[in-house]
Amino acid sequence: MTSSRVRPGPAGPARFKAYRFSQASRLELLAKLPAELRFEMEVVSHILPFRINDFVLNELIDWADPSADPLFRLLFPHRDMLSPEHYDAMSGLVRLGAPPAEIQALARKIRDDLNPHPAGQQTLNVPSLDGDALPGMQHKYADTVLFFPSAGQTCHSYCAFCFRWPQFVGAEDRFSASDSTALRAYLRAHPEVSDVLVTGGDPMVMRTHRLAGYLDPLLSDPGLEHVRTIRIGTKALTFWPHRFVLDDDADELLALFRRIVDGGRHLAVMAHLDHWREMENPLFTEAVRRIRETGAVIRSQAPVLAHVNDDPRVWSRMWKRQVALGIVPYYMFVERDTGARNHFEVPLVRTWRIYADAVSAVSGLARTARGPSMSCGPGKVEIQGVAEAHGERVFVLRFIQARNPRWTQQPFFAAYDPDATWFDALRPAFGEREFFFSREYAAMTKTGG
Ligand SMILES: *Cc1c(COP(=O)(O)O)cnc(C)c1O
Ligand code: SF4
Repeated sequence: MTSSRVRPGPAGPARFKAYRFSQASRLELLAKLPAELRFEMEVVSHILPFRINDFVLNELIDWADPSADPLFRLLFPHRDMLSPEHYDAMSGLVRLGAPPAEIQALARKIRDDLNPHPAGQQTLNVPSLDGDALPGMQHKYADTVLFFPSAGQTCHSYCAFCFRWPQFVGAEDRFSASDSTALRAYLRAHPEVSDVLVTGGDPMVMRTHRLAGYLDPLLSDPGLEHVRTIRIGTKALTFWPHRFVLDDDADELLALFRRIVDGGRHLAVMAHLDHWREMENPLFTEAVRRIRETGAVIRSQAPVLAHVNDDPRVWSRMWKRQVALGIVPYYMFVERDTGARNHFEVPLVRTWRIYADAVSAVSGLARTARGPSMSCGPGKVEIQGVAEAHGERVFVLRFIQARNPRWTQQPFFAAYDPDATWFDALRPAFGEREFFFSREYAAMTKTGG
């Protein structure tokens, strides 16, 4: 565990200047957990990353009953995140007091079993310019380039479901770029790109001057006029709202946001929000207010996770609160097929019911969230529903985004499977041998294109 960076500064509205979170001692809080649970946490954290900052620890987690608390369950290691075999192997070593090298060797082996590279991220989506692969970028869908600044590849706290987990344990080379020269060259050569999505990790762990070093040139360089939207993916609104209110460079950050908006670009803050409980802190509300004041639009996204938010009432309440604050619900995701998936995954049919029930309980303004969506190799596949056709029960699916833009929006059908939790478990309906895109996708993966 690392401690949070508390950077109280002169920035921030007066009424928040005095605001400091109640800082109980970490050890005191952790000592409230039963010894057995602490041992299990230790075993799991040898394999999966664990990090939590003092704000989340003190302000977001309900220590009256941590095991029932969605944020505790989102963040803290749990023995069921590993298969019984993996857990027994590691706990055996820990109990014996095995040397660190032995523990690390086993950890590496187990991590390799946890599908650390889902959806062909490292092979299929890395763009190139003049024959050279460009690290720190991904380009999968025509409109949008993902940019991974090297200083933004950690997070304020680590969500235990996160598909970026291998980079947090150093098990994979981070895709990351130390400056934006290659990004700009690539964008100049790709006039079809309208959106740049700055992501991580959490780019909001970066100091403002760093972020500005990446973003300001996108606004001023000739030949980049086609880049209309800058998106920033972040969890900082709830994990470190100080970033927008109290940090000593918070005002500078908001000035950067204003420069982007005043430069005629759309700035979209893509906020990762899993539960309404994380949206109750007054610093969160203030962060939202200050970001919106710059002209940026906050959009929200999160996956459906067992033990955290697999209940339509959680989503409808969260979406209503978001709309009240001026946040636009954007995506509901399906938990991805990597890392601690066994612990967090929910059958697709239930995830879809959660979406349908949540959407039915909110006004049209909160029905802007699309999903539930699976980010898999061929694209973002949305579960539109369950239907009966030709006497067969089927999942109705469509691509929200596709590796080939022509696949987008085309409805297609998979045989109903009550246990399926991910796209790779689905088979074409009506006895067909393959989906309409299967051949073309297979050809793409063969050529690495
Ligand atoms: C989701 C995603 C995007 C953005 O898609 P939108 O539908 O425009 O939000 C871009 N690139 C990748 C790899 C994605 O997974
Ligand atoms: S904040 Fe986002 S990138 Fe960071 S651990 Fe959570 S899900 Fe992963």
